[in-house]
Amino acid sequence: MIPPGETIGILGGGQLGRMIAVAAAQLGYRCHVYAPEADSIAADVCAQFTCAAWDDAEAMARFAADCAVITYEFENVPVGPLAALGDTPLLPHPRALETAQDRLSEKHFVTQLGGNPAPYAPVDSAADLAEAIAAIGAPGILKTRRDGYDGKGQWRIMTPADADGLDLPATPLVYEGFITFFAEFSVILCRGADGDIRYFDSAHNVHESGILALSTLPAPAALLEQVPAARELAAKVAQALDYVGVLTLEFFATADGPVFNEMAPRVHNSGHWSIEGAVTSQFENHVRAICGLPLGGTGLAAKGVEMRNLIGDEAHDWPAILADPANHLHLYGKAAARPGRKMGHVTRLTLG
Ligand code: AMP
Repeated sequence: MIPPGETIGILGGGQLGRMIAVAAAQLGYRCHVYAPEADSIAADVCAQFTCAAWDDAEAMARFAADCAVITYEFENVPVGPLAALGDTPLLPHPRALETAQDRLSEKHFVTQLGGNPAPYAPVDSAADLAEAIAAIGAPGILKTRRDGYDGKGQWRIMTPADADGLDLPATPLVYEGFITFFAEFSVILCRGADGDIRYFDSAHNVHESGILALSTLPAPAALLEQVPAARELAAKVAQALDYVGVLTLEFFATADGPVFNEMAPRVHNSGHWSIEGAVTSQFENHVRAICGLPLGGTGLAAKGVEMRNLIGDEAHDWPAILADPANHLHLYGKAAARPGRKMGHVTRLTLG
């Protein structure tokens, strides 16, 4: 057990790290952020900041020496350089990073565990793509295997002819069949060091332009029917990885049941509602798990919850948002409101 007063290391300097650090501070921990970018919005709320490249072994070792436990808020942290962390525990185990960083290995992994992703095929050339489209059909989506997020690194292929004009990037890709779904949802769980698993309620997630726009709870009944099967898969993933902390799996709700989309070995945007809307937030439970503390309750703290992301310029509406006393406003402190950038979120509870 790592008691309050100790230092938690966070790899990655974005808003998820910022919200982990705020939850950790509430429990009496100090946080130390490690990130390559100088303008870290997580570091803004932390006791210590190491600004260094991922492969700076000396900086990594110094960072680890200051921390009792280390976690990550960014799933694309390169795994190799983490060896420099030495004996300081890194939770969740980096095998979760390795699995989730590559869309192909992630799909193989969940398929082995009985999960059901969209039909998929690896693509490394134009010939592979033509073969994949012939086997799986169109429409479909071509995605980079690594480093994609919020719909970036994706190409929609409506007909086989769309593939002809594509200037394929020189990076491994995966083609997947287009899923007809009636809703999107995620399973967010927290697994303690003792193997105890707590699930957060699954929100109905609405995406716009590949970016989460809205999470609403409770989700409609037709979606809730799919949650038990999705949780069963998420628990198998957590157990197979001997996972400690918050884990997210995203799903499409279809007429044939839940189809796995992707996993994130971390706290997740579709769980931000839990800060006010759950007995214990995803951020606090993550801190509790990695520090070996008992997990807090994950049940809803209100009759209903709605979390809306503030993307780009929407964050400029903060005076109007604050004018409604029922709104809980979270701004991430990012300097520039670029289009498509997550700047903050607003949560509203429906009480009794
Ligand atoms: P991703 O980055 O893979 O989560 O994709 C971003 C969004 O694109 C998802 O939340 C879906 O709305 C949509 N999407 C991704 N893959 C598929 C698919 N195979 N079929 C239908 N929609 C998809």
